[in-house]
Amino acid sequence: MRYHNITKDDMLNGPGLRVVLWLAACSHGCPGCHNPITWDPNGGVLFDEDAKKELFEILSREYISGITFSGGDPLHLNNRKEVGDLILEISKLFPQKTIWVYTGYLWEEIQEFYPIRKADVVVDGKFIEKLKDKSLSWKGSSNQRVIDIKKSLVSNRVVLFEGA
Ligand code: SF4
Repeated sequence: MRYHNITKDDMLNGPGLRVVLWLAACSHGCPGCHNPITWDPNGGVLFDEDAKKELFEILSREYISGITFSGGDPLHLNNRKEVGDLILEISKLFPQKTIWVYTGYLWEEIQEFYPIRKADVVVDGKFIEKLKDKSLSWKGSSNQRVIDIKKSLVSNRVVLFEGA
């Protein structure tokens, strides 16, 4: 798995101050994508033990609300296994922190992927330029959904995250 950046104290990709892992690889090709440099699966650098250590060190800081996986697409097939493992590990090690995942896939396409069920929120769907709306919280276009994963699983329907 490869990544472009780890940003800390991010305020734009979920509530509170967050650490964000920006992964390489995306195959959705949305016109108007804000970050086409991340499409290349061979771009960025290898996500190695040092990168993981850095990520966990930031996440362990008391004022950090949680982690957001973005990109690129964290659920691109190049990333899915390792991101899934990270979600499982983080949900065990840091149960008080929230886990958000951005993806171009729809919830209906990924909900059977077990580790995603341990995350808190998924922002799903491709970015659609003609539905772009800067007033939206945590998403770029109005077709995308900010989904409360746990509530959606319990009620067996899509429940949107309150406050989105
Ligand atoms: S899913 Fe996200 S990163 Fe991928 S092309 Fe669409 S907007 Fe860009």
